[in-house]
Amino acid sequence: MSTLTGKTALVTGASRGIGRAAALALAKAGAQVLVHYGNAQKEADAVVKEITDAGGRAQTIAADLGKPNGPHDLARQVRDIVGGRLDILVANAGISRSGPIEEMTIEDFDQLFAVNVRAPYFLVQQLLPNLCEGSSIIFTSSLAARASVGSLAAYAATKGAIDTLVTHFAAALGERGIRVNAVAPGVVETDMSSFAKSEAGRDYTLGMQALKRIAQPDDIAGPIVFLASDDARWITGDTVSVDGGSKL
Ligand code: NAD
Repeated sequence: MSTLTGKTALVTGASRGIGRAAALALAKAGAQVLVHYGNAQKEADAVVKEITDAGGRAQTIAADLGKPNGPHDLARQVRDIVGGRLDILVANAGISRSGPIEEMTIEDFDQLFAVNVRAPYFLVQQLLPNLCEGSSIIFTSSLAARASVGSLAAYAATKGAIDTLVTHFAAALGERGIRVNAVAPGVVETDMSSFAKSEAGRDYTLGMQALKRIAQPDDIAGPIVFLASDDARWITGDTVSVDGGSKL
């Protein structure tokens, strides 16, 4: 029997990148996976097909998490599918903006906080009736929350907020047997991190890492599956660095 057999997981932003890798890895470990997407339906369908072709269970679920009612809308749909219980919530969807402090606009700043902080906060709030003893919530933080990398001040602040939510949610929900943690990737080669594909970005990344290769989404998915599993039953309130030893 696989470690997550019989469990149900929601992964936000699962159409590509780290979310996609997490959805595939959770399904491989036996979980039924709700593959959330914003507008990339074709890519999300392909993730579901990959899971079901391998004998797993998955379906897509859509919601724009940049809208104030996006998390409420998503939680409603999750309830319609899973009924009572959700075992695993991977709040992964996120956006990034880089650039000098002077160039940040109010609109971009607000959008960063809407998608990266407001949405996961209210998604947890709205799913509280469905999270039970043994459920695991996993947020996606970032190396940027603890170290200055690139020109990412506003984005980094959203991830600092995530680390704070991990602490406070874990303290508040521990009594119900719900664990709350985050993974904090460094630079991962995804659409978000086009930086990692340029020569300068690659050199910078390899220079700051102890391990000398560029991370792939799969490198983050394994630790997510671990935090979701019963093997991590005594870990809560922690942000786990998954960054190849960046900025040591
Ligand atoms: P990505 O851009 O490939 O994927 C982001 C996902 O979030 C996509 O599926 C996208 O559709 C979804 N999303 C964005 N805005 C949305 C919205 N308004 N509504 C619904 N869905 C929305 O990026 P990724 O690298 O896979 O990032 C995943 C998470 O990991 C993010 O939270 C990101 O901040 C974090 N992270 C990434 C890196 C990296 O180097 N790639 C490093 C540290 C942390």
